[in-house]
Amino acid sequence: MTTGFDRLADDWVLRDASVVWHGFTQMASYADNEPVTVARAEGRELIDVNGRRYLDAISSLWVNTLGHRVPELDRALVEQVDKVAHSTMLGNGNTTVVELAEALAKVVPVDGARFLFASDGAVAVEQALKIAFQYWVNRGESNRRTFLALGDAYHGDTVGSLSLGDGGFFTGIFDPLKFSVARTPGYDDPDWARKAVDLVRANSATLAGVVIEPLVQAAAGMHCCDPGDIRALYEACEETETLLICDEVATGFGRTGSLFASQLCGIRPDLMCLGKGITGGYLPMSATVASTRVFDEFLGDDLGERTFFHGHSYGGNALAAAVALRHLQLVEEWKVLENVARRAKQLAEMLNDRLAPLQAVREIRQQGLMIGIELDSCDPSLRWGRRVCAGAVRRGVLLRPLGDVVVVMPPLTTTQAEADRIVEALCASVDEVCAHRGSVSMAEDR
Ligand SMILES: *Cc1c(COP(=O)(O)O)cnc(C)c1O
Repeated sequence: MTTGFDRLADDWVLRDASVVWHGFTQMASYADNEPVTVARAEGRELIDVNGRRYLDAISSLWVNTLGHRVPELDRALVEQVDKVAHSTMLGNGNTTVVELAEALAKVVPVDGARFLFASDGAVAVEQALKIAFQYWVNRGESNRRTFLALGDAYHGDTVGSLSLGDGGFFTGIFDPLKFSVARTPGYDDPDWARKAVDLVRANSATLAGVVIEPLVQAAAGMHCCDPGDIRALYEACEETETLLICDEVATGFGRTGSLFASQLCGIRPDLMCLGKGITGGYLPMSATVASTRVFDEFLGDDLGERTFFHGHSYGGNALAAAVALRHLQLVEEWKVLENVARRAKQLAEMLNDRLAPLQAVREIRQQGLMIGIELDSCDPSLRWGRRVCAGAVRRGVLLRPLGDVVVVMPPLTTTQAEADRIVEALCASVDEVCAHRGSVSMAEDR
């Protein structure tokens, strides 16, 4: 039975499907999967074209931190519009971007931080790669040109960042385009750090840098590791002068319980990649952060070959910078990290009590407000991950899985009641989808 309201949603989905190409989405079945068409938002809820509300429990794919339509961020944006929306950073400057970089420099765990702004996380990684590569060329040690990346790594979807990634998400088709990297196991191997350290020590003569997602390999399905292991790898890099590149695109800006995961590990990387939460989820912005050690190797003659010849048209966009600056202040003013600690504890306890004992749940992994609940379906073709999330969406909680791992990544300002609501919806949906293990037919799949 279709109501008038459903017809309105159908109409938008039809219009959507006939002009928009959605990422990571099979467009032939896009409309059949009951996509939510967002019309507006309020707090941590998204509101669709029918006025139905969904708690944004994935923070709009991990970017949102303080919720939607934060009056302070809205105001920062409007005030910047009255100054200038954008001016190029190639060879010229902008006051708001200077203020943002000054504020970031005080909080990032990078010595003498310099910021090269871009718009996407993948590009921040791409820039870090090229900087690390040229760093060794500028030093006259051009044998150091290989990167070490970890098993299950994900660093974005451009060809360079994809090369660092360990495949997955059906990206194997692009293998011929990728450059080769040295690879040791990811965090799901308890011995990963020793293997990485051994490789760094044995191959430092040819290694340009080591690229990691400190503490949590998020897209891998929230694989977590011990901070001491990251510290050990950091020390091996120091010893061998290998550049350590920390991709904090997912872990940065409070997600893990600290402003940056590198701080929890007690490390100061040479290069750091920021993205996602940098503008609180408002506008596309990313940055590659370089330490003095790296930056100084690029100093030389005007227009000389030591220069870093790379830049993006919208890098250092002033609107994004204004929001990012206000966002950084709010994280402090609102003591957001304290809320992250409270909600992380609450969710850990509730998930442990209510979900962990279920036969359908294999493992729950968590670091701060990054949570992965791995379902234990005997058959991946049952697509439990997707169906459990669809069930949660029907219950008004927006979730999206990574395969059979249900990801819970709520905004950092999530309230106690909202965390309750997420667990309620999740439990009900797991009950519904996974109760009759193995007996669900594909016909019921959506
Ligand atoms: C999301 C993500 C990226 C890519 O960022 P985009 O803005 O989507 O390009 C890179 N690294 C990590 C660790 C990420 O989680």
